[in-house]
Amino acid sequence: MSREATNLLYLITIVTFILALRFLSNPATARRGNQIGAIGMLVAIFVTFLQNGINSYWEIILGMVIGGAFGAFAARRVHMTAMPQMVALFNGVGGGAAALISFAEFHLLAPDPGGLQADISTSIMLSAIIGSISFSGSMVAFAKLQELVRGRPIVFPLQKTVNALLFGSVLAAGIAIAVGAERQWLMWALLAGASLFGILFVLPIGGADMPVVISLLNAFTGLAAAATGFELENNVLIVSGMLVGASGTLLTVMMGKAMNRSIANVLFGAFGQIAPSAAAAGSGTTDGQVRSATVDDVAVMLGYAHKVVFVPGYGMAVAQAQHDVRALADLLESRGVEVSYAIHPVAGRMPGHMNVLLAEANVPYPQLKEMEDANAEFPRTDVALVIGANDVVNPDARNNAGSPIYGMPILNVDSAQAVVVLKRSMSPGFAGIENPLFLNPKTVMLFGDAKDSIVKLAAAVKGL
Ligand code: NDP
Repeated sequence: MSREATNLLYLITIVTFILALRFLSNPATARRGNQIGAIGMLVAIFVTFLQNGINSYWEIILGMVIGGAFGAFAARRVHMTAMPQMVALFNGVGGGAAALISFAEFHLLAPDPGGLQADISTSIMLSAIIGSISFSGSMVAFAKLQELVRGRPIVFPLQKTVNALLFGSVLAAGIAIAVGAERQWLMWALLAGASLFGILFVLPIGGADMPVVISLLNAFTGLAAAATGFELENNVLIVSGMLVGASGTLLTVMMGKAMNRSIANVLFGAFGQIAPSAAAAGSGTTDGQVRSATVDDVAVMLGYAHKVVFVPGYGMAVAQAQHDVRALADLLESRGVEVSYAIHPVAGRMPGHMNVLLAEANVPYPQLKEMEDANAEFPRTDVALVIGANDVVNPDARNNAGSPIYGMPILNVDSAQAVVVLKRSMSPGFAGIENPLFLNPKTVMLFGDAKDSIVKLAAAVKGL
């Protein structure tokens, strides 16, 4: 295929990727965005296949069949609650692929005298470092979220010093490669050092910060892919890598804002460590009393309310209650109750988790309210029905300076007239801390599995 035709088709591919991102930014058009992106990727693969210099196709096809089959199987089988792990895993293999390509290019070019130009060796060094960090960091994120290792921050003495020294050494090896030290052992040391750094970098991060880290690692993979594009002189890889890098960075910044945390604090703050003083500090949770309600009590509250706001959280995902929640909302609406859903940006276990679940249940998009709009509505809300949410409605984030989540913006459900919390027990949420909302005199608890409780509530509302 001629260079012009290749570049034209690559340009079309890039346009589809940009359009895909545009459509993905809204739940109503996200599916279409995914499809457009997939078509663009197919064109890019097809065009790449037609390039000169590919000696043997069967290894590539074999890799694609194995990878594609694994991807399709995993995507069909994965539970919605395990999606963040899968994102971490897929993201990690992208970074790993970039690092391996750098290694292969280095292996190929370094032995030739003058074979490694400065621009290529710099790209090789960057994609090897960033790709390795992204690979091993994502694997640790996967292991943490899959509970193969402890999810909380794992800290050890002098951690930051060790990390800084390690990163400094990796950088030194990288600079040596970039300025022309064409030694294979240096490349091995760089890959091993960067992979170790990725592990040590993510281990002390935990608790509520995992989504931010995954998004940051995603941005790293994009940058590694872009650097690989420079190595291979492949324009579509450069641009698509930069798109991933830029969107991952933006998502990281937006999530940091949603939790009112600086990125430095997320990365180096070991947030979510068990801090007994913080858990005990000033929440006053031991003074209040838990009031438990029956299904009939809550059905009356809901059935005769003017306005009910559903506040879904991780527990709704665990219970897979989204379809029953929608059915209850329909029932209440048929009785003239105004219903909406308050969506916290980090409710659940991945960005957009609640939106995805509610979209699956065909909840009308206009009923979904983002945090700011929802908070404006709570004071005129009769009942806030908290469905398996905990951290995102914890008033300690607002009131208790000693709390590990202090400063994170929350859904102010406690400014509604009444709060009903659906959960199974008094167990804490992801951040592992107590929630004084459950002891607020406005709050009643309806204990049980969220799906079970919602089904029973719908039956009881029908009977009113
Ligand atoms: P939480 O994790 O704070 O709380 C979930 C609650 O759901 C638990 O208290 C649990 O209580 C309850 N629950 C679990 N299973 C069920 C069930 N079957 N039926 C009823 N209740 C159930 O969830 P939130 O959504 O409020 O907050 C999300 C947290 O996760 C935040 O800390 C966030 O920072 C973090 N996070 C977010 C990510 C994201 O990108 N969205 C990714 C990773 C972490 P009980 O056991 O008593 O039932």
